[in-house]
Amino acid sequence: METVKKRTRRWPAAVAVAALLLALLLFGRWYEEGRASSSSTDFLMNTFVSQTVYGPHREEAITAVVERLRQFESVYSLYKDGSQIEAINQNAGIAPVEVDAEVFTLIARAKALSEESGGAFDITVAPLSLLWDITGKNPRVPAQGEIDQALALVDYRDILLDEERGTVMLRRSGQKLDLGAIAKGYACAVAGQVYRQQGVESAVLSIGGNVYTVGHQPGGKPFDIGVSAPVKDRTELLGTLHADGMVISTSGAYERYFEVDGQRYHHIFDPATGWPAQSDLLSVTVISEDGALADAMSTALFVEGLSGVKENLDREEFSLLAVDATGAVYLSDNIRDDFVLTDENYHLADA
Ligand code: ADP
Ligand code: MG
Repeated sequence: METVKKRTRRWPAAVAVAALLLALLLFGRWYEEGRASSSSTDFLMNTFVSQTVYGPHREEAITAVVERLRQFESVYSLYKDGSQIEAINQNAGIAPVEVDAEVFTLIARAKALSEESGGAFDITVAPLSLLWDITGKNPRVPAQGEIDQALALVDYRDILLDEERGTVMLRRSGQKLDLGAIAKGYACAVAGQVYRQQGVESAVLSIGGNVYTVGHQPGGKPFDIGVSAPVKDRTELLGTLHADGMVISTSGAYERYFEVDGQRYHHIFDPATGWPAQSDLLSVTVISEDGALADAMSTALFVEGLSGVKENLDREEFSLLAVDATGAVYLSDNIRDDFVLTDENYHLADA
């Protein structure tokens, strides 16, 4: 009797301790799982795609994003045989091409942004980008006659959209679409959907320099996003930015260019001249929840230059960080507290 009594008294304490230990162990595991991260880098969409994903579903999410972007690339690439963009280009001046709803929406969006930018951004720029081939294997400075010919084909107003039929047609033979200045930012949003489906709450993705953050760091701190100084192969950063949940797209003349006789020719064209844009900016970074908008606007504003940046500093849909040729950094008011300038070669422009 005595022993039984003692036992019944001891049990609850032992159970409580064991339960507490188990709870601590499980919490520890859960906490670690939540903080654990996996990283990967893949070559996709003609550029490097790097992911760092936190939490229990990280491995599956990384694989799912790579698969989704491969599929995206096969539909959107200007260079991939059998892509819907290639089909539209080959049927220029001939026939409308039926495309996926998603492709139709992006082209319609790109056309609207071309219009809004007064043609500084223009996705029919392909005859120029293919002629110069700055980012390809045989870059060269074409003769002015060739440039004039290509330039005559660049006009977003010739993108004919039939919403009911879901078709796209380029009006004139020889015209071509090039989604290079909008596809990577848009793809960030596409990857964002995959992360959500996979239950990922915290991740950083970069598609060719278009950075997208999902949530914030495990533990609640914002991600520190490095903004590159606008100099080729420069390892130092211009500064760091907090912009959780946003796509951060940068366009500049400093990364993709080729040189002849000491003269640099970069890959962002001015659709008004057919030559690489003579921008008074070194780089433009656009920060927005809307990846397609961020990417397209960074290209448009690089072409438009500092005056365009100044006009757009107070927009609601996006924020700006631009560096001009004198090294002055222009910031939208609403990100002033989120950016820390660390490179002393640059200075903040007066507010
Ligand atoms: P990156 O591709 O280096 O991130 P951008 O987003 O600015 O830079 O896109 C540049 C690409 O977009 C070029 O390689 C070219 O394919 C295309 N492009 C060049 N000039 C223009 C323009 N004015 N409007 C739209 N697309 C452009
Ligand atoms: Mg762009």
